[in-house]
Amino acid sequence: MAEKKQQAEQLDVLASTQSVIKIALDKLGYPEEMYELMKEPIRMLTVRIPIRMDNGSTRIFTGFRAQHNDSVGPTKGGVRFHPNVTEKEVKALSIWMSLKAGIVDLPYGGGKGGIICDPREMSFRELERVSRGYVRAISQIVGPTKDIPAPDVFTNSQIMAWMLDEYSRIREFDSPGFITGKPLVLGGSHGRESATAKGVTICIREAAKKKGIDIEGARVVIQGFGNAGSFLAKFMHDAGAIVIGISDAYGGLHDPEGLDIDYLLDRRDSFGTVTKLFRETISNEELLELDCDILVPAAIENQITEKNAYSIKASIVVEAANGPTTMEATKILTDREILLVPDVLASAGGVTVSYFEWVQNNQGYYWTEEEVEGKLESVMVGSFDNIYNLAKTRKVDMRLAAYMIGVRKMAEASRFRGWV
Ligand code: GLU
Repeated sequence: MAEKKQQAEQLDVLASTQSVIKIALDKLGYPEEMYELMKEPIRMLTVRIPIRMDNGSTRIFTGFRAQHNDSVGPTKGGVRFHPNVTEKEVKALSIWMSLKAGIVDLPYGGGKGGIICDPREMSFRELERVSRGYVRAISQIVGPTKDIPAPDVFTNSQIMAWMLDEYSRIREFDSPGFITGKPLVLGGSHGRESATAKGVTICIREAAKKKGIDIEGARVVIQGFGNAGSFLAKFMHDAGAIVIGISDAYGGLHDPEGLDIDYLLDRRDSFGTVTKLFRETISNEELLELDCDILVPAAIENQITEKNAYSIKASIVVEAANGPTTMEATKILTDREILLVPDVLASAGGVTVSYFEWVQNNQGYYWTEEEVEGKLESVMVGSFDNIYNLAKTRKVDMRLAAYMIGVRKMAEASRFRGWV
């Protein structure tokens, strides 16, 4: 019983992120009040969305929107559609968005939304109704200068388009800066779709340099074949790495000689499912423990825990997902001298290009793909170096260094505003 409780606490992503925020603020010399402000979102809305289903029945969906801290600027972050969404998870995800904004130095605080639903079991039109219903339900607290949504797990540019359309109808004016990750024709940015994976690729390259690993020929395992995982597999493959393992929610594929990535990308469905087509699969647990050089968890939370952290064989773990490694596992990996590049840095490419998208919407002037990529490259390299160097000088792991950099601007802004 006690063990179960301990495990539940360990897997409580909100509690564990709060504990690192506390250490980061202590190390930076902030008083307890600053932690009291930062440990929870300043605003959290729970909504109930009645939706008419295709068969004529009505279902009530529950959704959330968390706004962690708006001292720096409007809050920003994705909306996830997933059956396991919880209020606590959305809160933690909003804190992580604040940290990402601080790390890549964007004029935002963190926000996050989620709806408890399974889009894999919903029709296109049902998804549209849920997307529009969610925007109607949260419309009072969001907007281009308040809180700006974006894609996340199981949401995409089509869903952003419906949300944008609903918002513009409510406000009665076109408002492209309300949401990012839109289709190009509605004011989206070049490079947004692949931005998270581009950012992860840059972090992998920088981490590999530190570890003396050549990307060409390096063996890579990627857990998750959604937006981040699938683009990443392509980028790694194009860079000459050998992608020996990938997985989706149903299982994994392994080939020590390297998987046929182009074929897999071709066959994956819009939810990133591909392994169902194969008879010889391995489990997600087995995938994480494969012998490889670089491991990228790009799926969901709590995948690397104290149970499997000793069995990880990679020399570098780069977190493309939000919260894939527990704090206990972070310690084990660090003690084993595995270089762990934390989520709040590695996955910040997405929100960085979302920011570029929002800037372009505000200016009404659009950039080329090269401009977007050039700017993303310098932001990611600069952020990686800052965190790596701080970790070395303060003798802390990269996660704590990332939290220290991530909270600093927000804490300063909160102090200047006289909140603490
Ligand atoms: N959902 C993404 C994330 O977790 C992107 C958020 C955004 O672009 O605002 O970082």
